Amino acid sequence: MVENYTELGIYEDIVKVIGKTPLVRLKKIERYFSIESELYAKIEFFNPGGSIKDRIGKYMIEGAKKEGKITEGAVIVEPTSGNTGVGLALVAADEGYKTVFTMPDKMSIEKELLLEALGAFVIRTPTAVAPSDPNSYYKVAEAVRNLIWKKKRPVSREELKEIVNYVQRLVDEERLDELRSILEEEVEETPYAYIPNQYFNKYNPIAHYETTAKEIWEQTKGEIDYLFAGIGTGGTITGIGRYLKERKDVKIIGVDPVGSIYNLVKKGMSLEEAVKKAHPYLVEGIGEDLLPETVDLSLVDDIVVVNDQEAFAMTRFLARKEGILVGGSSGAALYGTIKYLKENEVKGKKVVIIFPDTGRNYLTKIFNNKWLLENGFETDDEKVLEGLR
Ligand code: PMP
Repeated sequence: MVENYTELGIYEDIVKVIGKTPLVRLKKIERYFSIESELYAKIEFFNPGGSIKDRIGKYMIEGAKKEGKITEGAVIVEPTSGNTGVGLALVAADEGYKTVFTMPDKMSIEKELLLEALGAFVIRTPTAVAPSDPNSYYKVAEAVRNLIWKKKRPVSREELKEIVNYVQRLVDEERLDELRSILEEEVEETPYAYIPNQYFNKYNPIAHYETTAKEIWEQTKGEIDYLFAGIGTGGTITGIGRYLKERKDVKIIGVDPVGSIYNLVKKGMSLEEAVKKAHPYLVEGIGEDLLPETVDLSLVDDIVVVNDQEAFAMTRFLARKEGILVGGSSGAALYGTIKYLKENEVKGKKVVIIFPDTGRNYLTKIFNNKWLLENGFETDDEKVLEGLR
């Protein structure tokens, strides 16, 4: 028997492969934008599901198991923009749970197909509705959970399919009163259907505190000065920020899309006002129109704002310049990093930027000129980026 499996790159199952992603220096980007600091990207597409969210998929399921919140054959239901779904779906497949994901319409078709390939059911919901609406992706997930709860036992795959089809019909036909009545039913926690809820789940930031942050600390031998990360649930920036700040005064900078509330709240605007100002944008995975429990903005020193056009141009440019094919939130993070370093005249520092997922999720969108033009975006990336040089 082989003594040390991981040293040889052999793992007992796919879940154990999650994490230990590389840091890659962005020398061509540094040169092109005349950055006098070292930029290192933490490339999370090396996770088996292609994103940073595999880490929390593993932690949230293992945490729920530990706390007795799920039982054998249970259904895991989650509102997700896709990547958390993939992380949960692959861990669930490995461990024998069924999965249902609710997902806003704006998310790419690739993400939906990927989830279904991993054995999940997907329910599409409208994008531009308030989180409290009965057809928001949060509420639709609860409706599925409630219907399973009513059975008081684990449901079969066939029964689950029926429930999913029924709920999708309610959403499509805008039978909101029917949805509302399912939601109003009083339910207790059930181990047969569990919503990890990445926006409230303590294992989300813990996953990053115990893995992502620790890896960055070890990979940089503690010689890190700045950390840049997009903020979605805030689990990434909160977990990493807490770990790093406990060890050193590392500057933690958030990257937020125009239209999201984080930058407004950080500037001191009341949550109520910020929520009123929130508006839709196209970059996926970052920004919020609510304040999740998983984010601790006190750990964030500053927030840079990036618009869709800037995020997409940088994402495309990065692929051609460095051969690193990542998603729009990575492009946004890189754009925000360069903008911040230039505006604040930061020099001679070691900077780590989180690149959360793979560009393969967006081939029909960000990397497709037709899609860009249809949505009113410029396809000449250098032209968009000219102002940053
Ligand atoms: N980028 C992408 C592509 C994501 O899916 C997410 C997760 N929503 C993030 C960035 C942000 O990570 P977090 O939720 O930990 O803030």
